[in-house]
Amino acid sequence: MSNTQKITDEVDVALVGAGIMSATLGAMLRQLEPSWSQVVFERLDAPAQESSSPWNNAGTGHSALCELNYTPEKNGVVDITKAVDINEKFQVSRQFWSHQVTEGVLSDPREFINQVPHVSFGNGEDQVRYIKNRFEALSQHPLFPGMQYSDDRAVFAEKLPLMAAGRAESDKVAISWMDEGTDINYGAQARQFIDAAQKDGTEVRYGSEVKDIKPQGNKWKLTIKNLHTGDTSTVLANFVFVGAGGMALPLLQKSGIPEIKGYGGFPVSGQWLRCTNEELIEKHAAKVYGKASVGAPPMSVPHLDTRVIDGEKGLLFGPYAGWTPKFLKTGSYLDLFKSMKVSNIPSYLGVAAQEFGLTKYLVTEVLKDQKARMESLREYLPEARDEDWELITAGQRVQTIKPSRAPKFGSLEFGTALINNTEGSIAGLLGASPGASIAPAAMIELLERCFGERMIEWAPKLTAMVPSYGKKLSENQDLFTEMWDYTQKTLKLDQK
Ligand SMILES: Cc1cc2nc3c(=O)[nH]c(=O)nc-3n(C[C@H](O)[C@H](O)[C@H](O)COP(=O)(O)OP(=O)(O)OC[C@H]3O[C@@H](n4cnc5c(N)ncnc54)[C@H](O)[C@@H]3O)c2cc1C
Repeated sequence: MSNTQKITDEVDVALVGAGIMSATLGAMLRQLEPSWSQVVFERLDAPAQESSSPWNNAGTGHSALCELNYTPEKNGVVDITKAVDINEKFQVSRQFWSHQVTEGVLSDPREFINQVPHVSFGNGEDQVRYIKNRFEALSQHPLFPGMQYSDDRAVFAEKLPLMAAGRAESDKVAISWMDEGTDINYGAQARQFIDAAQKDGTEVRYGSEVKDIKPQGNKWKLTIKNLHTGDTSTVLANFVFVGAGGMALPLLQKSGIPEIKGYGGFPVSGQWLRCTNEELIEKHAAKVYGKASVGAPPMSVPHLDTRVIDGEKGLLFGPYAGWTPKFLKTGSYLDLFKSMKVSNIPSYLGVAAQEFGLTKYLVTEVLKDQKARMESLREYLPEARDEDWELITAGQRVQTIKPSRAPKFGSLEFGTALINNTEGSIAGLLGASPGASIAPAAMIELLERCFGERMIEWAPKLTAMVPSYGKKLSENQDLFTEMWDYTQKTLKLDQK
């Protein structure tokens, strides 16, 4: 893919990276301020080839229907606070995407979103009790209507035949599920956004790596290298979004904004086992999330995922964690080293000193060979055969290391952190979880932080994009039901 349009030397908005975050923000700004010029710089030759690519992530529409790390249990009580928050944010996504479909910006919802049941799986006495407690806490809540639970082996076998086959009768299992879960191809969605943006006049420059971002007067000067010709050019922008995925940290550091001081990044790579047997793929229809092993970070919770990519069903298991110092899958082995600055060394040291559990977990994972990986898979699919599964490399995550604050040293965060300067002229997103699923809510927060003075003027348009904007659906059952029906229909999730 290429763009032969002449680039302007000055733009209103520069978006670094053509992943789902830049694509989402670009679409929002284009509709809020159609007269603002926009340019996207992408170092690769197509959009969404890094974390947003469908085989690089699990494609789960995270709304806490099945992910157990959002519902921790303490002293027998399941805390659903985080689950409710993520579900609220996902409802924002559903509404924003629906509006984009209605407006013709997103051309085909079936290409990027499909209904796939979300299932939580517990194995053994303790986990079964937890799944039941979790179900009882969530099923009472308005955002989780219709959630179901069973510890009956016959129901388990009907719902998840591959997981039941060959399982010892003595195994105690329980599942809770919601049939209205989703599988999302964020790559296809980003592509649809970018295609529409280009038609509307956004310049998209592929093979163009942003090397530097520096203030110039009240603007930002971006230095860009054309990776095909080696030429360097500069562009002045009023507003810059660093949607560079794992590379957001180094680019924000280059901008020199004080808000990034002390932040660090900890890269964790991943691998999936991908099923190659069509018959097995057809027999399974769910995203099944289990409990993480002790010491494992939340993003490494194992799951068995039905995927729908380019109209075809797929089946993934993982992720298995790995380690490389790269900040992008196509990054450099020097990325981690180069991100270390005097200001963030205490944060890195703090994490190194505190995260023994994570280190131990990563070492164990990295040392896992194919035999050990298949053993983990057999906890889900007891009859899994080596020849039906191939190993593929997932996307790279860079977990956020938060600055040291006395008396604590830096800490490792598994969520996302939005960083912006006080003037609101530059912003970027660190971290990877819950990620793409909540891109619209994250980008609305960015708009509020960076363009606060325009929010009153923009409110009618934002309310058209997200009708529940400014309200909590968990406190407004009628609106939730109305929005649910509207988004099911518009995103064609009510069709088989
Ligand atoms: C293993 C794994 C599983 C995941 N599972 C899920 C899931 O199930 N559900 C979910 O919602 N999220 C999931 N995520 C998270 C999700 O993939 C990310 O949050 C999301 O894709 C991030 O989008 P992005 O646009 O910020 O980054 P990316 O998609 O990585 O895009 C960044 C872009 O910036 C470009 N770039 C980088 N540096 C430069 C530069 N200097 N100049 C120009 N371009 C540059 C890159 O080439 C890339 O195209 C998962 C992630 C991983 C790694």
